[in-house]
Amino acid sequence: MKYDYLVVGAGLYGAVFAHQAKKCGKKVLVIEKRPNIAGNVYTEEIEGINVHKYGAHIFHTNDKSVWDYVTQFAEFNRFTNSPVANYHGELYSLPFNMYTFNKMWGVVTPEEAEAEIRKQKEKAGITDPKNLEEQAISLVGKDIYEKLIKGYTEKQWGRPCTELPSFIIKRLPVRFTFDNNYFNALYQGIPIGGYTKMVEKMLDGIEVRLNTDYLANKSEYDKSAKKVVYTGPIDAYFEFKLGTLEYRSVRFETEVLDKPNFQGNAAVNYTDRETPWTRIIEHKWFEFGTQPKTVISREFSSEWKRGDEPYYPVNDEKNGELYREYKNLAENEKNIIFGGRLGEYKYYDMDAVIASALDMCNRELG
Ligand code: FAD
Ligand code: UDP
Repeated sequence: MKYDYLVVGAGLYGAVFAHQAKKCGKKVLVIEKRPNIAGNVYTEEIEGINVHKYGAHIFHTNDKSVWDYVTQFAEFNRFTNSPVANYHGELYSLPFNMYTFNKMWGVVTPEEAEAEIRKQKEKAGITDPKNLEEQAISLVGKDIYEKLIKGYTEKQWGRPCTELPSFIIKRLPVRFTFDNNYFNALYQGIPIGGYTKMVEKMLDGIEVRLNTDYLANKSEYDKSAKKVVYTGPIDAYFEFKLGTLEYRSVRFETEVLDKPNFQGNAAVNYTDRETPWTRIIEHKWFEFGTQPKTVISREFSSEWKRGDEPYYPVNDEKNGELYREYKNLAENEKNIIFGGRLGEYKYYDMDAVIASALDMCNRELG
């Protein structure tokens, strides 16, 4: 066997594993079915602007060891994510904070805001929230739920909020301070020069083959390495034999505009049900761009079907059960590690994927 490890997928999980394995003196081959490395964090330069081709990515973490790890490969800028919500032309600050409450209700103090939310929560009669709708109303009240959450969430997930798990909305902070920082994270930023360069550094000196689908030639590839690290969809690995896990896919419509500033912010979320896209990203603002032109991407969310890119695992009960069945099969497979957002069917942020890959490296490589 020519390699110690065959890493399937050149996204963050695969790149971290490959880097660590090489560092331990292992012989590694990375194969990637796309024409580029970096998985979903891939950035491509258009008009001098780093465009986040598979969706906007803002690095944020509370884990110092992960921050120390990534900053070996890139210097990060001081970007802080503060998306703006656009509800039929009314603009609100995100995440939900005193600016949002003031615009929504005219309240001025935290006590007034808390009292308004309490009143709306009591009126809705929710004591033990069981789904995303109930969780959202408990956290921020009915008005914010109706204007800033319901439409966006139902477009994003293609399911009513009453059928979605509450953890999804708990991703967003609710603050009774004037703070528009979308994340509760000690460390945040965008790698200067783009994510692709950062992943290139991780993969430095490692053999990478692009446009190469592992599943199209699995038995041949299995013969080339002692062990496989697979970061593709777990159900695809097993030829969907137990059924298909559900994912949400996203279609991006990207345009170059001959003006320096389109929306004045990196992300504007369209939270009404009627606008067909969920958000518009203006890529230059991730890096405080001064280019004469600008590049924007509208995001349209859709149900995944075979052949589409699987972006978001739908971590509800039904899919959770099917995933557990696949996981049982995976545990009986020899010489293979399933990792990452698709391999573990988990709504992971970048920092969590890196932490998970490093944890696996500790167990596997010592
Ligand atoms: P991926 O990046 O998906 O990499 C897996 C790779 O495997 C892909 O390149 C794929 O082509 C390849 N592959 C699959 N099957 C095969 C095969 N059969 N043969 C060969 N190659 C194969 N996280 C944040 O922290 N901040 C954000 O702002 C953020 N924004 C996001 C926005 C969107 C729209 C999405 C979808 C996710 C976002 N995330 C964000 C999450 C982040 O993208 C993931 O945590 C991270 O990229 C996952 O890395 P991964 O290596 O597990 O998966
Ligand atoms: N969300 C919302 N309104 C917004 C932004 C987010 O209702 O303006 C909800 C929506 O359900 C979304 C979830 O909060 O799926 C998590 O948002 P986040 O921005 O973390 O989603 P991601 O960046 O992963 O797409």
